[in-house]
Amino acid sequence: MKIDVLALAAHPDDTELSCSGTLAALVKQGLKVGVIDLTRGEMGTRGTPELRLQEAAKAAEIIGLSARDNLGLPDTELHNTRELQIPIIERIRHYRPHICLINAPKDRHPDHGHASKLQLDSIFYSGLQKIETKTPDGKLQKSHRPVHVLHYIQDQPIEPDFIFDISDTIGLKEEAIKAFASQFDVADPGDEPETYISDPDFFVSLRARAKQLGHLGGFRYGEGFIYNKKPLPMSNFSFLMESSPKR
Ligand SMILES: [Zn+2]
Repeated sequence: MKIDVLALAAHPDDTELSCSGTLAALVKQGLKVGVIDLTRGEMGTRGTPELRLQEAAKAAEIIGLSARDNLGLPDTELHNTRELQIPIIERIRHYRPHICLINAPKDRHPDHGHASKLQLDSIFYSGLQKIETKTPDGKLQKSHRPVHVLHYIQDQPIEPDFIFDISDTIGLKEEAIKAFASQFDVADPGDEPETYISDPDFFVSLRARAKQLGHLGGFRYGEGFIYNKKPLPMSNFSFLMESSPKR
């Protein structure tokens, strides 16, 4: 199956928190969108890896993803090694995306920065035919290098190059995040410890961030992205003509 936009994430829930409004909007526009979670988030304080897989599948349905895979790489040990690059390269060559979205270059959770280096190198090496990968039935895969790479922004505020309009999909984004019921918006923490993200106030701050970015972009709600390899190619001004932020 060919995927147009493939998002790579250190943990199940990274894409929901950072770019699911954008992913849902792209699906509505008719693009095929997929997510590859590198780990099962097994070192997270709350919930179990099995529960997070179920939650990720539920969120994928809400966003309208065409594919969501989990590579089962080791949480908190995302070293940029050939051993960990290979399964990522295999998935990139399988889905052959034009655009990849990846973790923030630096963030509160160190895995996000480590994952972004691993993801960037995997994306580049996926284009080298001499790095061999095989399909499950043993056939050699063709090389494929995605053309555009954008970092999504998660916890730590980073100045974005783009703001994507999620005014029509903020509801889907919040629903998709709430699919991770073990992690977010937990009014009654039960037997498990409260965390940085389980407090209902964290959820309020997410909406405030989307509102602030939306304001900067001239939309009601927005999500920010960093373009990985500047300069940005352009052959018309349509996206500038279509937006009117107050400046
Ligand atoms: Zn994460």
